[in-house]
Amino acid sequence: MARDTDLTNPIFTDPDKAREHFEAIRWPDGPYCPYCGVIDRIAPLGGKSMGPGWYHCKDCRRKFTAAVGTIYERSHIPMTKWLLATHLLCASKKGMSAHQLGRMMGLPYKTAWFMAHRIRESMREMFPDASPIGGEGKTVEADETYVGGKEKNRHRSKRNAKHIGGVGKEMVFSLVERGGKVRSHHLTNISAKNLRPLLNQQLADASKTNLMTDGEGQYRLVSDMFKKHEVVNHGIGEYVRGDAHTNTVEGYFSILKRGIVGTYHHVSQQHLKRYLAEFDFRYNERTALEVTDAERAAKVVFGAVGKRMTYRQTNGAHA
Ligand SMILES: [Zn+2]
Repeated sequence: MARDTDLTNPIFTDPDKAREHFEAIRWPDGPYCPYCGVIDRIAPLGGKSMGPGWYHCKDCRRKFTAAVGTIYERSHIPMTKWLLATHLLCASKKGMSAHQLGRMMGLPYKTAWFMAHRIRESMREMFPDASPIGGEGKTVEADETYVGGKEKNRHRSKRNAKHIGGVGKEMVFSLVERGGKVRSHHLTNISAKNLRPLLNQQLADASKTNLMTDGEGQYRLVSDMFKKHEVVNHGIGEYVRGDAHTNTVEGYFSILKRGIVGTYHHVSQQHLKRYLAEFDFRYNERTALEVTDAERAAKVVFGAVGKRMTYRQTNGAHA
């Protein structure tokens, strides 16, 4: 979208403006029939009973709106609210809790929670395999961190540094291309067996990519896949040696952890991958790469196309 979007934009309050905005994202080249794919025999349906936004396909003779086949199709939540929730989640660097989202939109907590998860889902599915990272002349940093866990375990881990990564915490493994994108995964452990397929899937060509890790040792298991593997040894206080460092991935982890601890407080194991999708998405579509809030939100709305609701609103309404 060319124009920037702020909260006074009528798409967040006016149903017609919201619909037109969605249609422009859904159908950048004009409407097409979601049933038979026809593009040139589409006519708007007048009719007072249908309301605006309905089209008719003269080929298969079916009626449709831009929402058909998307997560918005059978939603009782108006498009204005979907656009607003998407904008708020896209524009907040550390995310936004369902409580705050609900308060800001005048919607019940459970509705906001449901919407936030649907929006994260739209963020997630756009990315896997969309464009591999790394490749010729590129440097990728890999590291793991631990998030979540129950409060009592978190206190114990704070008391004893050796318990970091211990009971109740979930491991997040991230790959970040310097100056590029991040890919995060929820893993149970780091082994050659689970890293190799993941690296092959995510990287353009590992054999042409430089890898940077810290001195934990487990990444030596996959050194042979890379053009070059450099290690900085945090254990002996070494953080930067020439261009060998893991500052990029650590910077990403600090945003992720501030968001998960500060905004979401507790993230269940079941939903962790959705939060990772949210944080990866905002990082990958960041302002530094000249992506505006409005463009970011439009990508999420576009990502929602083709995804119907697969679980009900009553599903476990907690963080
Ligand atoms: Zn048709």
